[in-house]
Amino acid sequence: MRTNTAPLKTARWAEVRAMVAHRASFRCECCNVFLGMTGQADHVIPRRDIGLLGIGVFDPSNLQYLCTSCHSEKSNRERWHGHEKKPPKPHNRSNVPGRDAFLAATGIPAT
Ligand SMILES: [Zn+2]
Repeated sequence: MRTNTAPLKTARWAEVRAMVAHRASFRCECCNVFLGMTGQADHVIPRRDIGLLGIGVFDPSNLQYLCTSCHSEKSNRERWHGHEKKPPKPHNRSNVPGRDAFLAATGIPAT
């Protein structure tokens, strides 16, 4: 179920984000790289869970300032380790059409 995760583009969010950036001295709170105002305010407890806990979307105590890379790493972790969905299965490459002919032509032993 995806609720409460629409992009935050209100004036209030901009204000809270600026406050969080200032609080973090405009650095990523994960890798410490200097970001200025290019960082992202991330919900420490994911937005899909905060409703249950009674935490507001704009609550600065649940926000941290992250660079794009740390933010997407965290979001991916939450996505795959949460209850939303399972990670995709790795591709099965053993039955690609023409595989045997290709391997024979290149001399790579088929495993
Ligand atoms: Zn970072």
